[in-house]
Amino acid sequence: MVDVLVIGGGNAALCAALMAREAGASVMLLESAPREWRGGNSQHTRNLRCMHDAPQDVLVDAYPEEEYWQDLLKVTGGLTNEHLARLTIRASATCRPWMQKHGVRFQPPLSGALHVARTNAFFMGGGKALVNAYYRSAEAMGVAVQYDTPVDAIELDDGRFFAARSGERRFEARACVLAAGGFESNLAWMREAWGQNAAGEWPADNFLIRGTRFNQGVLLKYMIDAGADVIGDPSQSHCVAIDARAPLYDGGICTRIDCVSLGVVVNRQGERFYDEGEDFWPKRYAIWGRLVAEQPGQIGYSIIDAKAIGRFMPPVFPGTTAATLDELAQKLGLPGEPFLRTLADYNAACRVGTFDHTALDDCHTEGIAPAKTHWARPIDTPPYYAYPLRPGITFTYLGLRVDEHAAVHFGGQPSDNLFVAGEMMAGNVLGKGYTAGVGMSIGTAFGRIAGARAATAALHAAQATQGRGQHHATA
Ligand SMILES: Cc1cc2nc3c(=O)[nH]c(=O)nc-3n(C[C@H](O)[C@H](O)[C@H](O)COP(=O)(O)OP(=O)(O)OC[C@H]3O[C@@H](n4cnc5c(N)ncnc54)[C@H](O)[C@@H]3O)c2cc1C
Repeated sequence: MVDVLVIGGGNAALCAALMAREAGASVMLLESAPREWRGGNSQHTRNLRCMHDAPQDVLVDAYPEEEYWQDLLKVTGGLTNEHLARLTIRASATCRPWMQKHGVRFQPPLSGALHVARTNAFFMGGGKALVNAYYRSAEAMGVAVQYDTPVDAIELDDGRFFAARSGERRFEARACVLAAGGFESNLAWMREAWGQNAAGEWPADNFLIRGTRFNQGVLLKYMIDAGADVIGDPSQSHCVAIDARAPLYDGGICTRIDCVSLGVVVNRQGERFYDEGEDFWPKRYAIWGRLVAEQPGQIGYSIIDAKAIGRFMPPVFPGTTAATLDELAQKLGLPGEPFLRTLADYNAACRVGTFDHTALDDCHTEGIAPAKTHWARPIDTPPYYAYPLRPGITFTYLGLRVDEHAAVHFGGQPSDNLFVAGEMMAGNVLGKGYTAGVGMSIGTAFGRIAGARAATAALHAAQATQGRGQHHATA
């Protein structure tokens, strides 16, 4: 029997496996994906949000605990546990040397990243390189890794873990860490969580999943049914406007469309529906997924003209181009008359002052609804470009309730050998909203705690069994 079983194969699982092994436990990791798709959503990440009181390697200036906490408080609207949040924040200040020891490398952000050189440490080679480094280190340390192993059941007795099952296969262990992500890849569950809208549509049918297809929430569902304490709202998910031509799964970061604040966005009726210039794009990109989800057919079109080119990260797919707005409407299949009226009304309403995309400038509209409050310039310089937008789901917030030891709880009581980390419990810290890099901070902090606690629980259990054996032998 192995000491610690880790279920999942992303950042949180790997941090847990490495910590448990470092503590002297024998460790097996079960990853649902085949080897070439290992690493869950973590393979798509770029950075980790880190507290620091002075410049540290790739991080400039300072990002003190209090500022990090206030940022979390603001984005979650108070849906956070301050004790667990501060624990995560403090852990983010000290985890990088440990990450480096296991092969992770950092680099300064590239220009065009969301103004995060102060707050976020970027992984050299992105999340894929991080995950590969952790797997290499885990294998070198003797962690047994099994791919193609989706766990579908857990054997529990009164909150104690005994074994995990994957089909006919059974894996016994003295302790276990659950780190199998959210349920965003499970389209049937997303459909149920989002429900039907007033027009009779099922919005989730038009969602695209930005990350892995393997986060089906099977284990989360199993644990909820088994009576584990739950946190978070199933209908909440981090949802970004991405290119409608992105694949259903694993489109990753390059499918994001970052030109919204430089133009206008219309729905399939050719009408604008929200202030595209409300605030800086890094502070607004995560509301546009939900805004598009609320539109008929769950589709929108970001429209810009030649003046915007070179001012945003170019998306992976080229835009639809046209020499006139009329031609653009035809190419997009939008109703010409309302589309041209929307653009003419917008152009006429623009009050152009001093355009500055790096500041909340004075270019705004007057007399139209919705207003565009910054960066409003007429869309009048061909060629014109359009990018189709769909809601792109990053992750869900529903998870298992934990304490500072990452223990799974049943009826308020912590399990003594079952732990949880990463997206499966992130809702304790992040009940809603998001601030870039905090997903990896939570997974790293709680993955490490869960791994260390699981090792301690397993080694105690092994000693107790041994002690009982010796007692029987001498009795
Ligand atoms: C495109 C994109 C970009 C992102 N960028 C960032 C970023 O830059 N910084 C940041 O902090 N966060 C980012 N995030 C969020 C981040 O990915 C998550 O917060 C983090 O990766 C969660 O780690 P995790 O280990 O909990 O889950 P995951 O990395 O998703 O791992 C879950 C693992 O569990 C496995 N699994 C699922 N079900 C089972 C089962 N039944 N049995 C066995 N294994 C199972 C999966 O195959 C997978 O390996 C991004 C997300 C996406 C989609």
